[in-house]
Formats: sequence, structure tokens, C-alpha cells
Amino acid sequence: MIPLVAIIGRPNVGKSTFFNRLLNQREAIVDSQEGITRDRNYGLINWCGHSLRIIDTGGFIPKSKNQFNQAVRYQANEAISESDLILFMVDGKDGPTSTDKDIAQLIRKSSKPYLLAVNKCDSYKSESLIHQFHEIGLSSPIPLSALNGRLTGNLLDRIILLLDFPIKNFARIDYSNLKLAIVGMPNVGKSTLTNALLKKERMIVTPIAGTTRDSVDVDIKYYGKDITLVDTAGMRKLAKIKDNIEYYSILRTKNAIDRSNVVLVIIDAEKGFGKQDKRIVDEVISKGKGLILVVNKWDLINKSNNTMKNYQQTIQSHFKSILNYPMLFISALTKQRIHKVLDLSWEVYEKGKNMLPTNALNKALKDIISRNTPPLIKGKTLDVKYVSQVSCEPTVIALYTNKPKSINISYQRYLENSIRKYFDLTGIPIRLSFRKK
Ligand code: GDP
Ligand code: GDP
Repeated sequence: MIPLVAIIGRPNVGKSTFFNRLLNQREAIVDSQEGITRDRNYGLINWCGHSLRIIDTGGFIPKSKNQFNQAVRYQANEAISESDLILFMVDGKDGPTSTDKDIAQLIRKSSKPYLLAVNKCDSYKSESLIHQFHEIGLSSPIPLSALNGRLTGNLLDRIILLLDFPIKNFARIDYSNLKLAIVGMPNVGKSTLTNALLKKERMIVTPIAGTTRDSVDVDIKYYGKDITLVDTAGMRKLAKIKDNIEYYSILRTKNAIDRSNVVLVIIDAEKGFGKQDKRIVDEVISKGKGLILVVNKWDLINKSNNTMKNYQQTIQSHFKSILNYPMLFISALTKQRIHKVLDLSWEVYEKGKNMLPTNALNKALKDIISRNTPPLIKGKTLDVKYVSQVSCEPTVIALYTNKPKSINISYQRYLENSIRKYFDLTGIPIRLSFRKK
């Protein structure tokens, strides 16, 4: 097991900044507004040959009566109990606050190993800022600047020392599992679905719109299969966004799509499939990721015999490409058909990662062409001589022909649809690439 280090502390002390520095990416959203990193972020780092898992928790605000802060607090408490080491971060510029003292007390109670990091000691001169923290009753404050990186190496050394690594051979993390992104507009039920899949209150779900602003990656085992759930914030039209946080959320939705193999695009059954949903679907298809359209809140719909079929046909008639992707009707709330979500995602993942055997493709091509011969091009016959898959994610199938530029769209569609049917590629965006033999 790789040791887990939880970064906790008040909002705005620099936890996300530090986490980002360690992971070298804009993984957590950092903003000067308080309480932005509301959920937990997990990351894996390597320091001098030692692997560490890092959790960045949401702002820790004890004694708050506010529903939201309570939820965030609950998350941080969970992080403490899960972790092997607590990295308690305080703000050297602010000095110790009563909240810091409360947290210090909780840490002492947990009797976990901890380090007290005094952040925002941006220069040598400001290192003396650490002394004011002796009063909170934790030992050996360590100076740090998450922003410019001063003394971060020093801090990591201390972490390694304190953990007293018993493990010599570290497990290699296998990145070849299914990475499943759950995306969609705000309030369609992404967090509720994720919770239902995790069967644990790991995400914060509250009725406040836009609550799940940060994304959290969580690894789960599903009947022996490794799946990483990539939860994301809602995606809205770029032009409408004025504030920074939303902007990052959109970037991150895109980012999450990039990082995944299969994407669940969630829509709200009552609201239907709108322009924004189409934009998200287009994004997924253009990136070549596996796609499943999930119609959530199906419990709210009055149903008769053909409701599901009609619903599906309405969407398909407005948006033809959706025909190539499966559609699921679920209720994240009542857990109706929830089990199908992961089953189907795995199926799509398997299809997407396997290369189609070349001889099977060529056999299929022969059959496909004999059933509907290509049109003549300026009196000349079009020969498709050979076909092979050149990549997956995205699935690109190369067709070698004498006239790669002259094949009309309708015949291209015929080829694509026939190949789809032959190999049952529902859920996978495919691209045909016509090349000169
Ligand atoms: P979190 O809420 O604890 O995750 O805090 P953030 O990482 O979002 O940081 C809050 C603010 O403090 C941001 O404006 C950061 O740029 C700033 N900040 C973080 N680390 C440092 C640091 O080492 N020095 C200075 N001067 N500012 C920092
Ligand atoms: P997110 O913004 O996409 O993460 O949406 P949430 O998961 O926070 O859900 C938004 C609201 O929709 C919450 O009040 C949920 O309780 C509610 N909700 C989510 N899924 C369902 C569902 O299947 N049926 C019903 N009736 N409500 C749901």
C-alpha cells in the first residue's frame, strides 16, 4: 500500500496551490475566493524513489452551522481517518486563528503522525513567521512557500522521514484501466450518480447549484474490474461565463473528457436534450472517446408503454449521430438501472481499446462492397483494396483506395455504418481515413 498524506487546513491557506505544485498541474481549482476546493482531490507523486498518495481536502471549518461547511468538514474528517500522515497547513501571513487551534486539537486527538507546515513564507526573511504558531500546541512548525516552491523539497523529505517507509518495493500503478468521466450540465445529477456508484457519501451533494465545482478522481473495483471515476463540474456555454471558477470548471470538464476512455453524458429527463448537451456530446465524439447518453431523473417522468422509445426517437431525430451511441434511462436517486451504468461502460471500454483484426476487417470489407458497389467516379471504378485499423482512442480505420479524395459522402456513410454493424461498435466514435494505395 502506498502511504496516504492528507493536506488539511482552513480555506485559503494554500493547500491547492501546494497540491498543484506537487502534481505539476492545474488539478485543483485555485482562486482567491474562499472555499473553492470543496471536495477532495487525489494525486500520486514520487519523491526520491518513494511513492506517496496525496489528498487535497476542502476547506476545514469546524463549528460552522452552515450545511455546506458541515459537509466540507465531514470530508476533511474522513481524510484524517483515512490518511497515514496529516499535513496541516496554516497561513504564515494571517498568523494563528481560533480555527487553526480547533484543527490542532482534532489532530492531537487523532494521534496520527502530522507535520505543521507554515505556508506563505515566500522568502528567507519571512521564515521567522513560523514562531507565532508554537501557541497552537503542535510541535516543530516548518516554513514553506507553496507559491514559489521554497522549501517544498525540505517538507517532502520530512514526510518521507516521518513515514519511516517500511515498504521497499512500491506497487506500480496500472494506468490501463477504464477511466470513466461523468459530465453534463449543472444539477443533472452527476454527484448523485457518482455517490450511488460509490455507495458512499464521498462526494458532497447539496441542492446548491454548482456545488461540485472541483473534480475528484476515485478508484473503484467493480466485479474485479478497475475503474477510475472522474467526476467533473458542469459545463456551460463559454460566452456566458464571467467568473474565473466557472471558466476553470469548463476547462476541467474538457480535461476530464481528455483523461477518460468512456464518458457518460448525463441529461435531466424533465429538461430533455438541449443545445448545451449537444455541445458536450460533440466534444466527446470529436475526442474519439466512448460515449453513453444517460437520461437521469427518469423517476420524474409519467410513463406509458412507449415513453422510453419515444423519448429516444425524439432525441435521435434532432441529432442523428446519437444513433451510434447507447442511451440509458436511470434514476440516480432511486437507483433504478444503476447497475447497467458500469456494465455498459465496461462494454464500451472493451470495444474501444481492442484493435479490430485486419483479416476480419478485410473479409467484412469484401462483403460490404459486394452488397453495394461503389459509384463510378468520372467513369472509373473506385477500388477499395485494403482496410486496417490504425489506432484506437480514437478508433481510426484506414481504407486504401485508388481515389481517396473522390468518395462521396453517402458512400462513406454506407461504409462506416456497415463496419459499425459488422463489429458492433455502438458507443465508439469511429473515423474512416481514405488513403492512396
Ligand atoms: P486553499 O483554499 O487552502 O486550497 O488555498 P489556495 O491554494 O486556493 O490558495 C489561496 C490563496 O493563497 C491563493 O490566492 C494563492 O495564490 C495564495 N497562496 C498560496 N500559497 C501561497 C504562498 O506560498 N505564498 C503566497 N504569498 N500566497 C500563496
Ligand atoms: P450535479 O450538479 O450534476 O452534480 O447534480 P446533483 O447530483 O447535485 O443533483 C442535483 C439535484 O437533482 C439534487 O437535488 C438531487 O437530489 C437531484 N437528483 C439527482 N438525481 C436524481 C434523480 O434520479 N431523480 C430525482 N428526482 N432527482 C435527482
